[in-house]
Amino acid sequence: MVRCVVYGCSNESQKDCSISFHTFPKERERKQTWTHFCGRINKGGKIWQPTATSKICSRHFTKSCFEHIGAASLYGIKFKTKLKDSAIPTLHSPRELVSACSHPQVPGRGERAAKRARKKASVFFIN
Ligand SMILES: [Zn+2]
Repeated sequence: MVRCVVYGCSNESQKDCSISFHTFPKERERKQTWTHFCGRINKGGKIWQPTATSKICSRHFTKSCFEHIGAASLYGIKFKTKLKDSAIPTLHSPRELVSACSHPQVPGRGERAAKRARKKASVFFIN
């Protein structure tokens, strides 16, 4: 069973088969962006680090992050959904979950925050 590592997300592979799970990228910079997106902190106050088995569910990626690859076989063409190499998680971030509970939503703010997070990987929950 696979579980999404994003803080506040309870998606598991057995619950919903329409959700796919994606391992962290190998490149350091993008891995760091994914890690910060998860918004998790270890007990000692250190930023949580993903392991080889850590996965993020497809709910956190926009449709444009995926590509459909067709593979022809004897039984016709089968399409596989693949996460693009450049994909960055932006949806349903822990920060959104927190602000949805404690503050009224400011239009456009989430989008800007997401862009900022992509540009400069900021740490959630530390301030
Ligand atoms: Zn998730």
